[in-house]
Amino acid sequence: MAAHGCKACLVYCMDFRLHDSLANFLAEQELVGAGADIIRVAGAIKSLAQPQDRRDRDFLLEMLNVAYDLHGVRQFYLINHEDCGAYGLEDVADSEEELATHREDLKAARALVKSHFQDVEIFTYFMWLSGKAELVE
Ligand SMILES: [Zn+2]
Repeated sequence: MAAHGCKACLVYCMDFRLHDSLANFLAEQELVGAGADIIRVAGAIKSLAQPQDRRDRDFLLEMLNVAYDLHGVRQFYLINHEDCGAYGLEDVADSEEELATHREDLKAARALVKSHFQDVEIFTYFMWLSGKAELVE
């Protein structure tokens, strides 16, 4: 591990509604004490899975590389959330189709990240506005 290392890096959306939920999630994953890098960018998972601009994806991969190289991170958490503005209208109750897209994007993002970082563990989660985090296999 690097001189000032941490265990994990989370990739998450900037949405203010999930700040408390993210804090709870970090506690549940026992990452508060050990520390974790947190990359918060609007629609981050969508930008990894299906970027509108390739530079958005490259930027996120570069941030992951900083965590990997500088902090010795070997666990990546990729997290999407309910009612994400990056996925269209703010309709609060996501349609089944939208929920399916979230899951597909998480899988695509995991495959992309895995192709760049072979020796990392990758966890993919979908977070509901209620704060409940659901593991997406
Ligand atoms: Zn969002």
